[in-house]
Amino acid sequence: QLPEDPNVYKMRRFDSEQLTSLEVAELVNRPLIDVSAIKERVKPIIEAVQQRGDKAILELTEKFDGVKTETVVLKAPFDVPELSPSVKEAIDAAYTNIKTFHQAQMSNPMVVETLPGVVCSRFSRAIERVGLYVPGGSAILPSSALMLGVPAQVAGCNQIVIATPPNKQGKIADEVLYVASLVEASAIVMAGGAQAVAALAYGTETVPKVDKIFGPGNQYVTAAKMLVQSDNDAMVAIDMPAGPSEVLVIADSSSNAKFVASDLLSQAEHGTDSQSVLLTVGLSDQQIFEIEEQVQQQSLKLTRRDIVRHSISKSYILQFSSMDRAIEFSNRYAPEHLILQIEDPESVMDSVVNAGSVFMGHYSPESCGDYASGTNHTLPTYGYSKMYSGVNTHSFLKFITSQHLTKEGLANLSSSVITLAEVEGLDAHKNAVVVRLEDCHN
Ligand code: NAD
Repeated sequence: QLPEDPNVYKMRRFDSEQLTSLEVAELVNRPLIDVSAIKERVKPIIEAVQQRGDKAILELTEKFDGVKTETVVLKAPFDVPELSPSVKEAIDAAYTNIKTFHQAQMSNPMVVETLPGVVCSRFSRAIERVGLYVPGGSAILPSSALMLGVPAQVAGCNQIVIATPPNKQGKIADEVLYVASLVEASAIVMAGGAQAVAALAYGTETVPKVDKIFGPGNQYVTAAKMLVQSDNDAMVAIDMPAGPSEVLVIADSSSNAKFVASDLLSQAEHGTDSQSVLLTVGLSDQQIFEIEEQVQQQSLKLTRRDIVRHSISKSYILQFSSMDRAIEFSNRYAPEHLILQIEDPESVMDSVVNAGSVFMGHYSPESCGDYASGTNHTLPTYGYSKMYSGVNTHSFLKFITSQHLTKEGLANLSSSVITLAEVEGLDAHKNAVVVRLEDCHN
């Protein structure tokens, strides 16, 4: 067998000062994803589950996951096999940190007297029934179960339903079963892809219908989430639109080539369509060359290098001479993960406007946020960090407002309300105030 050519792991390189604005815009844009073809493929799957429920799920699981199962749903308490002590300890540590960070996100009820006698308040209630999709086609992902399950538990959701495809033995991975019991899930749907999303959205004989569906997944999962969200019969919300995972690393002369390369590659190994972007600020050719060499050397040792080869071909290095310009580009790109391997990350944080999650300094690799530091790894991709937040405790809550007016409060507010009701020609609105004022005067 011929030795592997390290050049297949070479990232494209550009100098921002040599590029036209059109070329810069092309680097900001992600590869176009055509979801219409996938949606067409997914529609009959959703319809089958809607019409034939569990029976359709069992057939589709056999077809797409290559495994014949007899039951669709496992109900709590789950039969959790003994995990190895090191795995159990790692999951427990991650669970504790994620719980601590997400508990701190719970906010107290807010009570404000806007005028004497006019008290407005806001309080939260958990979404009662939530569905958490834990991908499982090509890898076991207990981390995704933690990242979705912990905030749901912290928020106080009544019914937490996890859906994940069964393995070739028709079973759910031990680690996922363990996390499901930690987060007090009430059921596990043993199905993946569009059929799992449809089951959560509409419910079946055994799958409980949910109010909101969370979680990452492949293109079938994403297309199904988009379709059920726009169907009034489902009456279901989703967490956010999803595209391939990505990282943008900013490195200055204080950065370590090995560290930079390791972060680019931990993103690249996620999937063939992942993108790793490196912005260098004031680095010499030699320093950039060292990073390129590290990317190549480290790639050759990775078990998932076949995936890395594809994602590296979609990745690039962009050179800048000033930090301000690099941050400006990063804000336009709006990365899912932003890693600041720079001397003084604090000094640029105020300028970071768009990013899913930020990793500051030389000792904060993305993997820590992916697994165990406490922050959530379910983040907006594809530029959606311009307007979406990552999954957090509030994603599992709704906020209800209330107002309580005294007679004095009503009198204080009446002229504004009456005038605005007149402007809008809504007589009954005006009348609702007037009849009460008359009553107060009697
Ligand atoms: P998956 O669970 O998302 O999908 C597997 C399911 O896809 C199968 O159960 C099957 O039902 C369905 N499927 C497969 N082929 C099909 C076909 N031809 N037609 C219809 N349905 C089909 O698992 P996956 O495929 O391994 O994908 C996981 C995805 O989740 C990856 O893209 C990964 O990058 C992403 N992910 C993202 C994050 C994040 O936080 N951003 C975390 C973990 C995973």
